[in-house]
Amino acid sequence: MSEGRVENLIIVGGGPAGYTAALYAARAELQPLLIEGFQWGGQLQNTTDVENYPGYPEGIMGPEMMTDFRKQAERFGTRFITDDTTELRLTDGDIHEVVVGKETHRARAVILAMGAEPKRLGIPGEMELQGAGVSTCGVCDGAFFKGKDVAVIGGGDSAMEDSIFVSKFADKLTIVHRRDDFRASKIMEDRARSKDNIEVLTPYKPLEFVGENGKISAIRLEQSESGEEKVLPVGGAFVAIGHTPRSELVSDQVDTDEDGYVRVEEPSTKTKLAGVFAVGDLVDHTYRQAVTAAGSGTKGALDAEWYLRDTPGPDPEAHWGKQTGAIIEAVEAS
Ligand code: NAP
Repeated sequence: MSEGRVENLIIVGGGPAGYTAALYAARAELQPLLIEGFQWGGQLQNTTDVENYPGYPEGIMGPEMMTDFRKQAERFGTRFITDDTTELRLTDGDIHEVVVGKETHRARAVILAMGAEPKRLGIPGEMELQGAGVSTCGVCDGAFFKGKDVAVIGGGDSAMEDSIFVSKFADKLTIVHRRDDFRASKIMEDRARSKDNIEVLTPYKPLEFVGENGKISAIRLEQSESGEEKVLPVGGAFVAIGHTPRSELVSDQVDTDEDGYVRVEEPSTKTKLAGVFAVGDLVDHTYRQAVTAAGSGTKGALDAEWYLRDTPGPDPEAHWGKQTGAIIEAVEAS
């Protein structure tokens, strides 16, 4: 597509951070190219009711919200590639290359917004029974477990959200958590505990997903303190133990922390490479909300805009030119 052409800005990742960065950059007439991924929409594509995004007093479904984000970015001239980025060749202030399959796209600035993905337990049966009763997305797969006894593993908000959703379909649902205390917010924990068909089993950690005739039949558990083992018969299991940042394409090029999150020069979104910015869940292991990701995307767009404004490009006509300040006007107008 853009072999030879040098874009102002390529944004990698189609979640709240990426779309918001694209919206701001597009309003600044940077004509951003957004490589949004084959499964665009990020984690919200797997979420039902979003009740905590300001501006939606009645709540909104996650995929619907992402469609709105995308449309708003498109309205101001964002161009999209709905495919996965396969390689990133980043430089320190020179032209960066973003590879999507057989196509290489070039840009003066790149915003990394690849987000995070579900963590795995790393126990026997987990991968073998994936799609055969083991799932990492209750909201996506819950309806397939109508009338079954299932378990949700984890003690955070994701586990509570999955449990509340899946309990609408399951006969009985057991939340299995390795500690007695929950990391989840009180409101989510209370909501889960108040469901008649939800039971809580703590402190237990899963040792193995046991299969029978190619489908999950039980989870072998260990009492965290005594080490005593227990077998919980289930027809489904949802692993909801958090997320890992999707930094694998850049982890040898920019700095990352011990968990793989990209390090930025806070409060900016600058990485150690000039012209490369990182935003959203790829950076944030603390807040990880759609609204904080969107805010971070805004910061990324502003940082990229200021970088492009202040750094002479190889061909000014093709790049920054007369658009200086447009993004600032956009911020002031919003
Ligand atoms: P999280 O808060 O990191 O919780 C992960 C849970 O999984 C913890 O309880 C953890 O146990 C457990 N866990 C981790 N590794 C494990 C392992 N190997 N074996 C057994 N258990 C393990 O992750 P999250 O629930 O995905 O939430 C992430 C962020 O998103 C939070 O800020 C949350 O508030 C937000 N969120 C909000 C909503 C909502 O408001 N609707 C929904 C989903 C997520 P320990 O507690 O023992 O570490």
